[in-house]
Amino acid sequence: MSITARKKNFIEIAKRFLGIDIARAKYAYAQDPRFGYISESRVADSWVKTTCGYCSVGCGMLIGVKDGKAVAARGNPDHPVNRGKLCPKGLSEHHILTAPGRATTPLLRKDGVLTPVSWDEAITTMVTRICSIQARHGRGALGVIGTGQLLTEETYTLGKLVQLGFGTSNSDGNTTLCMASAVSGYKLSFGSDGPPGSYEDLETADVILLIGANIADNHPILCERLQRNQKRTLIVADPRVTKTAMMANIHLPVKPRSDIALLNGIAHILIRDGLIDRDYIAEHTEGFSEFASFVASFPPRANLKDHRTRRRCH
Ligand code: SF4
Repeated sequence: MSITARKKNFIEIAKRFLGIDIARAKYAYAQDPRFGYISESRVADSWVKTTCGYCSVGCGMLIGVKDGKAVAARGNPDHPVNRGKLCPKGLSEHHILTAPGRATTPLLRKDGVLTPVSWDEAITTMVTRICSIQARHGRGALGVIGTGQLLTEETYTLGKLVQLGFGTSNSDGNTTLCMASAVSGYKLSFGSDGPPGSYEDLETADVILLIGANIADNHPILCERLQRNQKRTLIVADPRVTKTAMMANIHLPVKPRSDIALLNGIAHILIRDGLIDRDYIAEHTEGFSEFASFVASFPPRANLKDHRTRRRCH
């Protein structure tokens, strides 16, 4: 904290201590025409529709804007995903725009110290150094890593910049790590790169199997749908005793990296015990006999004690 900021902080503390400033502006309540009583500082001039950017659930939100600044976040009651609710992450989303630790100017390391510089200087330095590296080692010497938090248009623009501007094909994103295997699995299994289920399924399904997903902590809005479904049997396969695992009827604390073996074992039992719909399979799938002979080599070996299966029935 700079000396000026420290002085300001000290003066504020002293004023509050002496009762000169009771921080009324911070703690007063007022009536918002749309949401009723809320903190006065959050009464907005307008509410703008947007989508929460934290996790992939995609909750619809309204950002309250006052004097051109985001001052509040509320769930959009008309949005089909979250129907007006937000988890704590979404509710605090407007705070990140003005968070004190946020980088607002480019930083360039000079004599070992990160120093604020103008955008002109930052971009000129980047261009000079990138050109110099590519002149010495070839265009492919440059690699770019993007993020799944980019919007579609931004991802498209970055792709064009990397391929046509930088002339390198070394481009990747964090989405490859987390989504490439899922997308490839969807394509191979269902012929489409999107998950075939829907959020409503969580409210109506009889049995729900979650593998390695801790939706109670990570996607609380989805978890609410799960909780609304009182008749479901929830099976959670996860080496960790997560909050979601604690909600399960059956928790399978499998060893890390054994989830595929678990699925193959379940398929083995379903086929072995005739618990499958052969007509449906004949009509809608191909390669079933190859699959059946593959999972034939996955008989369940471990006993329940070894697997430490924890069962809770409601
Ligand atoms: S579950 Fe929470 S973090 Fe995820 S999109 Fe909804 S509000 Fe945002």
